[in-house]
Amino acid sequence: MSDGTMHDLFVIGGGINGCGIARDAAGRGYSVALAEMNDFASGTSSASTKLIHGGLRYLEHYEFRLVREALMEREILWTMAPHIIWPMRFVLPFQKGGVRPAWLVRLGLFLYDHLGGRKLLPATRTLDLKRDPAGRPLKPIFRKAFEYSDGWVDDARLVVLNARDAAERGAFILNRAQVLSARREGKGWRIETRDAQGRVSTHQARMLVNAAGPWVDQVLAGVLARNDVRNVRLVQGSHIVVRRKFADPRAYFFQNPDGRIMFAIPYEDDFTLIGTTDRDFTGDPRKIAITGEEVDYLCRAASEYFADPVRPEDIVWSYSGVRPLFDDGASKAQEATRDYVLKLDGSEGEPPLLNVFGGKLTTYRRLAEHALEKIGEAIGAKGPAWTAGARLPGGDFPVEGAGGEVKALRGRFPFLSQRHAERLVRCYGSDAAKMLHAARDASDLGRHFGGTLYEAEVLWLVEREWAVTAQDILWRRTKQGLFLSQDEVAALESYLEGVVGRLQAV
Ligand SMILES: Cc1cc2nc3c(=O)[nH]c(=O)nc-3n(C[C@H](O)[C@H](O)[C@H](O)COP(=O)(O)OP(=O)(O)OC[C@H]3O[C@@H](n4cnc5c(N)ncnc54)[C@H](O)[C@@H]3O)c2cc1C
Repeated sequence: MSDGTMHDLFVIGGGINGCGIARDAAGRGYSVALAEMNDFASGTSSASTKLIHGGLRYLEHYEFRLVREALMEREILWTMAPHIIWPMRFVLPFQKGGVRPAWLVRLGLFLYDHLGGRKLLPATRTLDLKRDPAGRPLKPIFRKAFEYSDGWVDDARLVVLNARDAAERGAFILNRAQVLSARREGKGWRIETRDAQGRVSTHQARMLVNAAGPWVDQVLAGVLARNDVRNVRLVQGSHIVVRRKFADPRAYFFQNPDGRIMFAIPYEDDFTLIGTTDRDFTGDPRKIAITGEEVDYLCRAASEYFADPVRPEDIVWSYSGVRPLFDDGASKAQEATRDYVLKLDGSEGEPPLLNVFGGKLTTYRRLAEHALEKIGEAIGAKGPAWTAGARLPGGDFPVEGAGGEVKALRGRFPFLSQRHAERLVRCYGSDAAKMLHAARDASDLGRHFGGTLYEAEVLWLVEREWAVTAQDILWRRTKQGLFLSQDEVAALESYLEGVVGRLQAV
């Protein structure tokens, strides 16, 4: 089976980088196809710490280019998607004789505030933890802290909204389609994919983009039959989620005695997210899972700060991902560069290939712009850069307007609880009202699956966001997995078996 079109670009990988490049390219008028072998964001892009941040720690490694670009992106991304991205203040406690002297941290934060791009986010300030509520959950030895700005993002939704926007701009998006092979044939690439039903299709494109994240080298070796396959260093990072450790809306930035840093972040109303670790990884990225050693490390490190210790039995959920870092030969995992590298491949007259190594969620939009510069050089430029001011689906309201959106949604659908309305606005923004359509009471939302998840939302996700399994819905499109019992998950699974094929075939 062939899709019959000679696309300009074929993108391998539906993580943030693949979807970001596909969206940017489609918006410039290129004909684009993208294949994701599993679900969107099922790789690294749903396993992050979920911060839109400059990366204070990277200043220690003199990564000024990356930090400046990332700092500049914070407010641009917030404006593009104020439903899934919002500012967060971080409390960084310090003590005499701590890991880094206070003056050094202050200097880092001064640079952070002034390197560029900060117009709306408040600057750093010093806190007296004896008086400030941020001191309450901490051990009394912490008397002072710095408080600075960064941002929060729903990572998996950022990916799917880029995929949606790419599709709305004409991209041909294939989920659950693994790229099996890609060969240069005449003036283009001949690409073979296999879908979830085992059907093999062929596609043609003038240029190929390898944005397979942790699989980028596997794609080079397996799909492209190449030998240059040691470009990325895989570094595992794990997180734990525990019942809420503090009520304050601010997050904490902790420095561990081994020089690493970690975050404790308010999460999904009732929880605290703690992470991350940094260890070299050599296995299959698909099978990654938190290790006992990482659990102990995270609990021990957080308990150095919180008065009430974090115990392994407090963990309600954990997740793990691998950073596909460009291998710059650094000796320690946490020292490997977080910057991205784009490499164009192919000699004169040959159909080009662009490989994407590394990258962060925060810099995905700039990475895509840089990729489009290379694509323009290789196959001819089309259209100017356009994504900086363009809203993602549902994000067409003022940056500080989420509260107003919640109020308006409850005004129109008064049967929604405050919590339910807030969640819908935080997931779907202005699309929430479209999803609820003409509902007059909760029964119009259809079957209730648990938590605040109803049939209307499930159908929206299947029809508009390529959701297929309960995992897609409970752990990527939403985090309702934290609130459903095992029986409720099983009921959702059997419901989906009945509807997915029917709806997605339409
Ligand atoms: C623990 C951790 C914490 C992080 N925290 C942050 C943070 O707070 N802020 C931040 O900005 N960044 C953070 N990052 C970095 C960020 O998450 C990653 O850089 C980013 O998600 C990488 O995206 P990607 O698209 O390159 O890879 P992925 O998201 O892994 O996407 C690659 C996709 O390619 C698909 N694929 C592979 N092979 C094929 C094939 N043959 N055919 C079809 N599809 C294929 C895979 O299924 C996968 O979905 C963190 C990373 C980790 C691991």
